[in-house]
Amino acid sequence: MINSIHERIDAVRSKLPDSVRLIAVSKTVTSEVIRSAYDAGIRDFGENRIQEAINKQTELQDLTDITWHFIGHLQSNKAKKAIQHFHWIHAVDNLKLAQRLNHLAAELGVSPLVCLQVKLLADPSKSGWHIPQLLTDLPALDLCKNLQIQGLMTIPPLGLNDIEILDVFNHTRELETKIQSQNWSHIQMKHLSMGMSRDYHLAIQAGATMIRLGTILFGERST
Ligand SMILES: *Cc1c(COP(=O)(O)O)cnc(C)c1O
Repeated sequence: MINSIHERIDAVRSKLPDSVRLIAVSKTVTSEVIRSAYDAGIRDFGENRIQEAINKQTELQDLTDITWHFIGHLQSNKAKKAIQHFHWIHAVDNLKLAQRLNHLAAELGVSPLVCLQVKLLADPSKSGWHIPQLLTDLPALDLCKNLQIQGLMTIPPLGLNDIEILDVFNHTRELETKIQSQNWSHIQMKHLSMGMSRDYHLAIQAGATMIRLGTILFGERST
């Protein structure tokens, strides 16, 4: 098991360009498995349940150079815990949540790194900004000075073919370029968090800087 995780990590990593940061999505896996991924050189871990993550972080306290990424949908009542326990929040999906995080970050004296989740195609099972709404909200987001807004995140709907998935990723990059060209005073657009086990090769082709991989590293999740 441990050996196979090392092998899987090496196999994926050997194919990645240096510009791409690999986030190992460790939701549902034990802290022992996280430790073995750490031993294989992984320093970025992604979780989608706050309490599960806090429990593992406690067990892994000695690994002080891990960067923790919250990749799940964030409910506003969990916002405070999220910024207390994670360096990155990948799926900020509406202005109210961003403003709440900004307010809490000021109170706590932290500046979390944030991606804005966008939804390019209709998808009832996923949250995210629709493009017109995001463009409308940018001036207010630019005032969220306690957040370090770093870029965009997206998850294509299930059931698309490769060409359609690539199209979603390319449009996300184009949207990022467009926002970047508007020269906001605070918002930065330098990261694209996109690509999971089934489609990360397409995401990289489209310019992803952060890929979030679970299954391909740790095997199928049972839950
Ligand atoms: C679970 C999850 C992943 C990892 O998915 P795999 O298909 O197992 O690689 C990536 N991103 C998000 C937001 C997830 O919830």
